[in-house]
Amino acid sequence: MPLGVADLRPVLAEYPATPVVAAVGSHSAIDITDGAATEGLATLVLAEAGREATYARYFRTVRDPRGDRVRGCVDEVWTFPRFAELASPPAQERLRRHGAIVVPNRALSSYVPLDVLENEFRVPLFGSRAMLRIEERTERENYYTLLERAGIPTPKRIAGPEAIDRLAIVKLPHARRRLERGFFTVARPEEYRAKSEQLIARGTILPSDLAVARIEEYVLGPVFNFNFFFSPLAPKDDGLELLGVDERRESDLDGLVRLPADQQLALPEAARIPEYTVVGHGTLTVRESILDEVFRLAERFVAASRERYPPGIIGPFCLQTCLDKNGRPVVFDVAARIGGGTNVHLGVGHPYGNALWRRPMSSGRRVAVELRRAAAEGRLAEVLT
Ligand code: AMP
Repeated sequence: MPLGVADLRPVLAEYPATPVVAAVGSHSAIDITDGAATEGLATLVLAEAGREATYARYFRTVRDPRGDRVRGCVDEVWTFPRFAELASPPAQERLRRHGAIVVPNRALSSYVPLDVLENEFRVPLFGSRAMLRIEERTERENYYTLLERAGIPTPKRIAGPEAIDRLAIVKLPHARRRLERGFFTVARPEEYRAKSEQLIARGTILPSDLAVARIEEYVLGPVFNFNFFFSPLAPKDDGLELLGVDERRESDLDGLVRLPADQQLALPEAARIPEYTVVGHGTLTVRESILDEVFRLAERFVAASRERYPPGIIGPFCLQTCLDKNGRPVVFDVAARIGGGTNVHLGVGHPYGNALWRRPMSSGRRVAVELRRAAAEGRLAEVLT
């Protein structure tokens, strides 16, 4: 039975008035802890042994004699031999005693099995616990089914390799680095066969993943990741906020496209099929005439999530889109939690978030503002799951 609000109430009853903001130490932990520190909340990073230095050393909080932070934003780091152990019963007990509220990022949902997060992890999450699973493309119900339900445009699905009749992208995990992508693009069935054989031989993809890979139309247009926030505490018409927009830097795709065409063609065969490993992010704004449609889609997403996964989306979420040649957003992926690309605006705030809030408003800070408001109004149960 998945954990619900009823399981949370007795846990919250024991919590301090102002909770501690916790995040898994990877992905967007600096954004989350920086935002919490700006709002005067205590912070905790849950790190894996060998990967803790960024938090425990370079961003650790230093306080002056009065106790005010003068440097850094990570107050405490708890290190586990493996990330997954942060969900062990003793670790959960320790998190609860500490008054920790975990802000889920992709690292949490990648390193702790979803079954454990859904059914066993009795620590409050800020956001929508039940929606973390929609990111798994191999699930029967995932973000595509939710987007279709909401009437949001997605890239056209192609039934199988033999039906490839246009430029398409084949989506499957990387063979060895399971959290990374083994995506490749193809335009014809013969090309699919040739490229997939080559990638299997190179050890980039596995036949078992290929058999269940999603094949979809490749949307020729720039990628815009729209970082939203939905507040269940706000009056109904003010709940949805667009904070900022980012794009990815992907290796080795971005290196390849910076070469002139003749040099690309001169590369050895194996180097001509790019990989899509996200290595960083850039910032973007969008033509204002496009914003109307972007808000419409996000409102539909919020409504569909409330209907299908009550209480629906809470807090940050990201609609990852390609804009087609008519400037229409096509959503190819969804993060039902803070997106990794929000890092581009950490500390300085998102452009749209700042315009809305009249002060620097990063995604991490927006989470902390919501948590503080919920705590002050005795409404934590409305933003936690
Ligand atoms: P994702 O793993 O869904 O975040 O996708 C990784 C990257 O693949 C994106 O940043 C895009 O560059 C690209 N991508 C994914 N789906 C599509 C699509 N249908 N059309 C064009 N590019 C896509």
